[in-house]
Amino acid sequence: MKTKQHYLIIGVSQQMKSKPIELTEENYYAKDTSWHYMSVSLFKDFMKCEAAALAKLKDEWQQDDVTPLLVGNYVHSYFESEEAHHKFIENKGSSLMTKPNKKEPYGHLRSEFKTADAMIKTLENEQVFKALYEPGEKEVIVTGDIYGYKWKGKIDSLNLDQLYFCDLKTVDDIHKKHWSSAYNKYDNFIADRGYFMQMAVYIELIKQTFGVGCQPFIFAVSKQTPPDKEAIDFNGDQDAIYMQDAMRMIEENQEHIQRVMSGEEAPTRCNHCEYCRLTKKIELPIHASDIEIY
Ligand SMILES: [Zn+2]
Repeated sequence: MKTKQHYLIIGVSQQMKSKPIELTEENYYAKDTSWHYMSVSLFKDFMKCEAAALAKLKDEWQQDDVTPLLVGNYVHSYFESEEAHHKFIENKGSSLMTKPNKKEPYGHLRSEFKTADAMIKTLENEQVFKALYEPGEKEVIVTGDIYGYKWKGKIDSLNLDQLYFCDLKTVDDIHKKHWSSAYNKYDNFIADRGYFMQMAVYIELIKQTFGVGCQPFIFAVSKQTPPDKEAIDFNGDQDAIYMQDAMRMIEENQEHIQRVMSGEEAPTRCNHCEYCRLTKKIELPIHASDIEIY
């Protein structure tokens, strides 16, 4: 049986008991560094489902469909540099192609990546995108302290001279509505995907890393044919409120998340995500009128 003393020892978060790891291009996405630095994507994973987030972090489970992530990375690497794009294609080659058959011994580029090529062309032809996104330094790692914990972030394109940064987002449909149970209304993809939080955190991490305040922009490009595109700023009154709300959500939840990560508290299951469905066992029948709806 675990004694209270034992809990006290393991209760110290990984972040606090270990020396900080220097973040590099090579280890930025490695699971090791996620135990030492919180990130927006990890925090969002924990807010969605703690059990799934922890299993992913411990390498016990991974999401089945990684294609949307690959499409995003494919487009990103293109605008990072020619070298980065070639390296990405070289590393992920087989996952970008259809399965080989007799007619096509090497397969062909999957339709998702043909769409990605169209998305790239769309952005390349936009003057506003070229003027804002292209001059910045690409994939800049930033770190800082947010409410007592270390965080990391990677800026797609950072322009310290002009004091702004850009993030590139691939999205199904820029104008799709998403139900928000927190606000009890439909939201757009920026709110649904936690991009108010991401921008607020990046502003803070850039401030702590470089000592300057930078303004965020998102360039969104859709997977539709032909792709939709938009340049988005965060200067609206409601934008500021959403960004403050997002920072408050971090303040209120991150201590609990650290305790879940350190094993001091058990993760909560959401009971309907991919991971929870996979690991679920039927116990007793539930009442018909008690089935939860989301
Ligand atoms: Zn779940």
